[in-house]
Amino acid sequence: MSNTDWSRRSRARVWHPCTQMKDHERLPLVPVARAEGVWLEDFEGKRYLDAISSWWTNLFGHRHPHIVARLKAQLEELDHVLLAGFTHAPVVTLSEKLCALAPKGLTRCFYADNGSSAVEVALKMSFHYWRNVGKPEKRRFIALANSYHGETLGALAVGGAGLYRDTYEPLLMQPIHVPSPDCHDRAPGEAWEDYSLRQFQHMERALEQHAHEVCAVIVEPLVQAAAGMRMYHPAYLKRLREACTRHGVHLIADEIAVGFGRTGRMFACEWSGISPDLMCLSKGLTGGTLPLAVTLATEAIYEAFYDEYQAGKAFLHSHSYTGNPLACAAALATLEIFGQRDWMAQNRQLGHLMWMGVSELSRHPHVAEIRQQGMILAIELARNVARRTPYPAAERRGLRVYQHALQKGVLLRPLGNVVYFMPPYVISPEEIGLLARVVIEGVQHTTRDG
Ligand code: PMP
Repeated sequence: MSNTDWSRRSRARVWHPCTQMKDHERLPLVPVARAEGVWLEDFEGKRYLDAISSWWTNLFGHRHPHIVARLKAQLEELDHVLLAGFTHAPVVTLSEKLCALAPKGLTRCFYADNGSSAVEVALKMSFHYWRNVGKPEKRRFIALANSYHGETLGALAVGGAGLYRDTYEPLLMQPIHVPSPDCHDRAPGEAWEDYSLRQFQHMERALEQHAHEVCAVIVEPLVQAAAGMRMYHPAYLKRLREACTRHGVHLIADEIAVGFGRTGRMFACEWSGISPDLMCLSKGLTGGTLPLAVTLATEAIYEAFYDEYQAGKAFLHSHSYTGNPLACAAALATLEIFGQRDWMAQNRQLGHLMWMGVSELSRHPHVAEIRQQGMILAIELARNVARRTPYPAAERRGLRVYQHALQKGVLLRPLGNVVYFMPPYVISPEEIGLLARVVIEGVQHTTRDG
């Protein structure tokens, strides 16, 4: 069957995520037949470099032989079993390893099967903790403007991006949103650290006013990914950790996009030397092979739930596939690959090549900023760079880059006016060269009419 056949059948029955389906009247779907390493291949042999790691999930390339072998072996032993009343080797071993790897103090693992659910777990756990310790008035959350924490109603509510949130506003709980430390908005010449710390005043004020009614502050550490890979300084998190402790409020780190080495350290929180009270992981957790998510909690949180059944304090939250053995085996294999070499050192070199590859764009009249944190590089396009006027969303400039790159065999998926790459860690220097060329052409092509 051809690409066209698969595309037609897909459009007839599959409701694709995050998509205006009518777009596909003119924008062909890309049916993928197979994948290997950083490459995807369609049904007619055309290849695409997966420069965004399939929605930021893939770490070591598609169908990594070690993950494939571990998965096959696991399939021979145990496919799935419920995790209430039962346990299994992959989930035990994975939990031990995650606690050893995570920032200090996170000692308990609660599993779900997607990032949004991991966020729901963290929000519910924090709220429930305060209830269990006799502070039921703590029932609100503080979140950052432009944050993204997922699509389920709780996660969407704490998210700050209007594009995803506004339609559902009547259904959402009301968090306290504070201005973001996002350094794209700093004054010309202002240092990142100074700006992020200046923005912390909003957070401090919100905590002073609301701590009595607030369970937790939730943040994406260092990179507000869905907002367009907007970045801020680690000093903000350090200040936030200290303030959360002082005000008696939990800190939830949503490391779903930035965990597992993306920012150049295993977890982005490490840049600030802090430990959150709750940490959400997913995406890279299985190396991009199977859905799995985990919320790590401190012993103090765990203990507030630990009591006689009649006390009614248990965390009665579950998902059918909680801690699925196959997904846990893929996660274990992924952690084993991390142990095989110093990926962070290698990524520093690859990150440098990514930067060098596109650096000429810093002089481009429609490039407002190029920013990078480890294996995330983002190029912010603007109509007027001096005045920081963005291109109107309706012009869909990013879509033009997407189409151009597809033609050239590269999968990019810009976020509005932000073209970014976030490739698997196994991308070669030559492939980075290709990526950079296509991005430069794509930006030129997209901005040539002003
Ligand atoms: N939090 C962050 C920071 C994310 O980037 C995402 C996904 N883009 C989520 C939560 C939600 O994860 P999922 O899509 O697996 O529900």
